[in-house]
Amino acid sequence: MPIFEYECGACGGRLERLVRNAGDVPKSCPACGARKISKVLSTFSVGAAPAHKHEHTPSAACSSCSSSGACPYGG
Ligand SMILES: [Zn+2]
Repeated sequence: MPIFEYECGACGGRLERLVRNAGDVPKSCPACGARKISKVLSTFSVGAAPAHKHEHTPSAACSSCSSSGACPYGG
């Protein structure tokens, strides 16, 4: 489910919304009413995964590397 996190630019409050269409996007802060809501990039929404971090040493591929085969260090 596409649950997005938003942050209020005025009070810094966070809110989460289940967004199924554009009408579900919050337009104002429920806490202070400011219309400074910006979307927070959450760790849940990794659609097109950016280059993942390599916590491992070049000689040992991490689990995500070995499954995707995209690791320059793996294999
Ligand atoms: Zn606010």
